[in-house]
Amino acid sequence: MKDKNLYKQILGLSGPWEVIKVDLSIEDEEVDIEISYKSNKGTCPECGAQCSIYDHRDERRWRHLDTCQMKTYLICKTPRIKCEKHGIKTIDVPWAESSSRATLLFERFAIDLLLASKNQTKAAGILRVSFDTLHHIMAKAVERGLSHREHEDIKHIGIDEKSMKKGHNYISVLSNSKKRCVIEVSEGRATRSARTLINNGLTDKQKAQLEAVSMDMWKAFINAVHKELPNASIVHDKFHIIKYLNDAVDKTRRSEARKLKKSEDKTLVKSKYLFLKNQENMTDKQLTRFKQIQELNLSTSQAWAAKENFKEFFNSETINDGKFFFAEWYQDIMDRSLTKMIIVGKMLIAHSEGLLNYIKHPIDNSVAEWLNGKIQEIKVIGRGFRTFENFRIAILFFLGKLKLYPQESQ
Ligand SMILES: [Zn+2]
Repeated sequence: MKDKNLYKQILGLSGPWEVIKVDLSIEDEEVDIEISYKSNKGTCPECGAQCSIYDHRDERRWRHLDTCQMKTYLICKTPRIKCEKHGIKTIDVPWAESSSRATLLFERFAIDLLLASKNQTKAAGILRVSFDTLHHIMAKAVERGLSHREHEDIKHIGIDEKSMKKGHNYISVLSNSKKRCVIEVSEGRATRSARTLINNGLTDKQKAQLEAVSMDMWKAFINAVHKELPNASIVHDKFHIIKYLNDAVDKTRRSEARKLKKSEDKTLVKSKYLFLKNQENMTDKQLTRFKQIQELNLSTSQAWAAKENFKEFFNSETINDGKFFFAEWYQDIMDRSLTKMIIVGKMLIAHSEGLLNYIKHPIDNSVAEWLNGKIQEIKVIGRGFRTFENFRIAILFFLGKLKLYPQESQ
């Protein structure tokens, strides 16, 4: 167990790196492996020149994979060289990256465990490390991944918001719908947050080549795209639009139900889901009732039909077709005095450019919404994150499609 050569083999050390001491602490269930550098020459980490050893740094500890079920640490006073070009530098150690608190093998195993369990608390328990140490490994993995990210051409992105805590804490999320990954997140949902998001997530070249951004009709995001991505078209997401129309149908139903109730008419009592559900998901009983209500030609049914009709807009083949369709649709809800629908209609007129852009760039936020669900899972498993930065690291670690592993290890 205290065989120095055995540990040298296990650690794969060669050349001047020697195991000089193995310390067992049965009480703490720990093994400390002390390593020394037995040479008076070392390699400059900047230029690779062979230089003389100048001095040694204070002792450092790196967590390594357990040996014999004991927590195992490597201990070393790393030498510093004096390079003619670069001055005094600490040499690289073969078992860890320069700012790591753990060895390459330990980091690799921690990353595998996190990806498999998707649960930081569980992974920290199995690895017997503090949450802080695990977070440090994740943060390093994300930093590494972001620096190695290939800056491929991106044509389309999505921007969406996500609540971080109960109340009004939001984050903004930039996503790549083709790769189905999160590019970057930022704190808040104001114009400044979205501008930071775009600038941190995309290179200048990517910003210039971007064709379209899908998003809700949120003013702050629109402003940010106008400022940072003047060449890109804004496309208002169809799912957000349909949600506004659905809400307007429900508002119409509520106000009409109240009116009818005054004259003892219970036609619309408990009918909410009839107008929100897809017909194919209804029971026979629900469908029969729904059809009976339709025959009465109430405002609610008319609003529902207008909402259903609107979906046809997204099949327009040309901008002119789209304009023509919208004008007719709007005239129809005006003629029928469907006030709640008219409010949404007016909002769409105010955002007509982004509405019509869908015909040129048929993109939407479906991937962004799917990622939002995944972010929600991370939030629930993480039981809320104390800081935004911790939340950001977890999102990019699990949803960024990044190359997370240390490069030197196999
Ligand atoms: Zn040098």
